[in-house]
Amino acid sequence: MERLDCVVVGAGVVGLAVGRALALAGREVVVVEKAPRIGDETSSRNSEVIHAGIYYDKGSLMARLCVAGRKQLYAYLGERGLPHRRCGKLIVATAPDETPKLSAIRARAAANGVDDLTELSAAEAQAMEPALSCTGALHSPSTGIVDTHAYMLSLQGDIEGTGGMVVLNTPLLAARTVADGFELDFGGDLPDTLHCRLLVNAAGLHAPALARRITGYDAVRAPGTYYAKGSYFSLSGRSPFTRLIYPVPVSGGLGTHLTLDLAGAARFGPDVEWVDHIDYAVDPARAAGFYGSIRRYWPIGRT
Ligand SMILES: Cc1cc2nc3c(=O)[nH]c(=O)nc-3n(C[C@H](O)[C@H](O)[C@H](O)COP(=O)(O)OP(=O)(O)OC[C@H]3O[C@@H](n4cnc5c(N)ncnc54)[C@H](O)[C@@H]3O)c2cc1C
Repeated sequence: MERLDCVVVGAGVVGLAVGRALALAGREVVVVEKAPRIGDETSSRNSEVIHAGIYYDKGSLMARLCVAGRKQLYAYLGERGLPHRRCGKLIVATAPDETPKLSAIRARAAANGVDDLTELSAAEAQAMEPALSCTGALHSPSTGIVDTHAYMLSLQGDIEGTGGMVVLNTPLLAARTVADGFELDFGGDLPDTLHCRLLVNAAGLHAPALARRITGYDAVRAPGTYYAKGSYFSLSGRSPFTRLIYPVPVSGGLGTHLTLDLAGAARFGPDVEWVDHIDYAVDPARAAGFYGSIRRYWPIGRT
């Protein structure tokens, strides 16, 4: 049986970043991916926003890693000349009772080390974004957008440039713990069983189920799966805004926000829909639920 040092399962952004870190640390790394391309699942179906780290609970992993990761990500994108833009974001209050919530968001952000938020009056916000309607806003200058595909391709290049491998069309079907690591059963075009010393489960939405298929791994440690689906709707025509526009967060989500891609096109979403299984189809009827919340900060007639 062939023996490997490290196997990372999943070539999404997490598996590629972990694979790169291991490769740069001098470890032998193989990243295996069940799909025919990298970033085939969640990593290519997101808003491509570089978050500042505003909303998370103080001291949580999300808060600490988002702020540290954002700084590292901007540095990496800059060094490599990868497409990104520090476009900034406005969090907007659209009713007088929402305005005080902006101060609370700013305080929470400051506790997380995000100390560059500024509170704006309605007039100051509208001077930045004339199409906007609001009663007040917070400006986050360190929020940005990135071309996630270019970023993932660069991570793959780093892995391969350091002697590691990214192997596509290769699902990990099952695994067993053994004294000195793991035995791994792969499917795909060339089914095989290999041994590795270190196994990293970066299988995204499938990670908990995969963990439960590892014989000898305590299944109690694998979290349950609860799928939240997010749908987007694109805006045809030119974007009315040059920054990302987020309403004050609502329970369970960030509200119906507007994000931009690097070509300047705008889209609204994602919303939050709890589902039982993975299905990427978008139900056009959900657009009706978007309209009212968008019109609170982008009224008819403002372009
Ligand atoms: C709607 C939405 C919007 C988001 N917006 C943002 C945003 O703007 N900014 C931000 O920072 N984050 C955002 N996120 C979060 C971000 O997209 C995810 O945290 C990230 O993409 C997760 O990456 P991953 O590598 O863990 O998972 P994935 O990208 O899903 O990668 C997992 C990979 O594992 C592979 N795999 C699974 N099982 C196996 C197996 N048995 N064998 C081999 N391969 C396997 C899959 O094919 C997949 O390619 C968003 C998420 C969602 C859902």
